[in-house]
Amino acid sequence: MNGMNRVPVKEQDPKTRATNFEEVCLGYAEEEAMIEAARCLNCKNPRCVAGCPVSIDIPGFIQAVKAGNHETAAGVIAKSSSLPSICGRVCPQETQCEGVCVRGIKGEPVAIGKLERFVGDWSREHNLVPENPSKPNGQKVAVIGSGPAGLTCAGDLAKLGYDVTIFEALHEAGGVLVYGIPEFRLPKDSVVAHEVDNVRKLGVRIETDTIIGKTVSIDELMEEEGYEAVFIGSGAGLPMFMHIPGETASGVFSANEFLTRNNLMKAFRPEYDTPIHCGKKAAVVGGGNVAMDAARTALRLGAETHIIYRRSLEELPARAEEVHHAKEEGIIFNLLTNPTEILVDESGWVRGIRVIHMELGEPDASGRRRPIPIAGSEEEIEVDTVIMALGTSPNPLIASTTEGLEVNRRGCIAADEELGGTSREGVFAGGDAVSGAATVILAMGAGKAAAKGIDEYLRGRRA
Ligand SMILES: Cc1cc2nc3c(=O)[nH]c(=O)nc-3n(C[C@H](O)[C@H](O)[C@H](O)COP(=O)(O)OP(=O)(O)OC[C@H]3O[C@@H](n4cnc5c(N)ncnc54)[C@H](O)[C@@H]3O)c2cc1C
Repeated sequence: MNGMNRVPVKEQDPKTRATNFEEVCLGYAEEEAMIEAARCLNCKNPRCVAGCPVSIDIPGFIQAVKAGNHETAAGVIAKSSSLPSICGRVCPQETQCEGVCVRGIKGEPVAIGKLERFVGDWSREHNLVPENPSKPNGQKVAVIGSGPAGLTCAGDLAKLGYDVTIFEALHEAGGVLVYGIPEFRLPKDSVVAHEVDNVRKLGVRIETDTIIGKTVSIDELMEEEGYEAVFIGSGAGLPMFMHIPGETASGVFSANEFLTRNNLMKAFRPEYDTPIHCGKKAAVVGGGNVAMDAARTALRLGAETHIIYRRSLEELPARAEEVHHAKEEGIIFNLLTNPTEILVDESGWVRGIRVIHMELGEPDASGRRRPIPIAGSEEEIEVDTVIMALGTSPNPLIASTTEGLEVNRRGCIAADEELGGTSREGVFAGGDAVSGAATVILAMGAGKAAAKGIDEYLRGRRA
């Protein structure tokens, strides 16, 4: 060790893991975590804290790990986040805390994510129970959605003494953490269920199987059930499609449906009856984290899997680590390639995908070089499954059933960034429902900001 490089983390062998759903990354053992923690320079003005959307005292917890005081480290993180084992696994640290770490100027940044994961896992293995010393103030707040935005908002409000109930449409709490991100990146029964339970232990109630806008409306919650404020953290679960011929054939799925069947409904486990189809050869259209997750899932279910992406490797929006893992496992990348038609056999099932090759032109509004089709370059790829991972937008149900709630032209709820306030008094919003599909930690940051906004609003009503 020369201090320039981080302590490497153990991972399952690529060939072995491509055939199972167990976690890929095995995390640091205690000794490894303490050695890695010693690389932190404990900067006076820590840029990593400013790089974290929930402002975790990163040097504070890392110094505690370095000294072997893991319980103290857990307490430091708990002041800002209830989801350390989750964030340590899925946050894009490379563009946030680790992206600005001073160690990264001449060598590798401190492995902040892996250390956060170590502390979260250590807390779970040592049965640390979160404390909530606040006194109940009797004011009721409803939180819609149990993803990272809702869980964070609910946890922060419970710590301030509010009587908080989360209403969740699905039968399990966690949002994308349970239905979207696969088991091999984020174990559900151990990691997610435990951290959701920690939010419950702060006093938050979670009512599952309750669709706001169908089971009960926001107006009814506020006018008839005594909720003084509502936080909408309903995410962006509505999949987009390309609207090309053949897209309604059997064997075409949205990545959301494909992943939900496998993750939430456990299709990969032999003891479950959930049907899932990915045939012998699958094409996943898209280049984000969702595409990588769908492709790596299809591979594990036994299909030769192709990513079809219209730009080049440089523009792939997925995290570098996910792309690296996908390549190691044997996913085939068809880059600079765009589907034009899904080919369907006489029984209505997918038999292939017609694609056109692309070249990159001048940058477009997103700043990335615009892909341009190359005339006459069309070809057919034989596949029996197509999974569309093109992005998602918020479901319109809540906005269409709530009086006075404004949305923007992308269908996202209009809310102020600082405190999450919306056009409707007493109703706050944050996370993917406001930003469109983004990240776990940004959703948590928005949940935190809205908790502050709700507290200010309700204290005003108390006075
Ligand atoms: C496959 C996949 C992989 C991803 N990988 C990463 C990653 O590696 N790192 C990362 O940082 N981000 C990742 N993301 C993005 C990240 O998961 C989301 O940005 C984040 O979960 C958004 O949190 P949220 O709380 O706003 O919404 P969600 O997590 O979507 O939670 C919203 C919840 O609200 C519920 N809900 C919706 N409508 C209603 C209603 N009417 N009534 C009651 N409940 C309702 C939903 O069922 C859901 O449980 C990924 C996303 C996907 C889909």
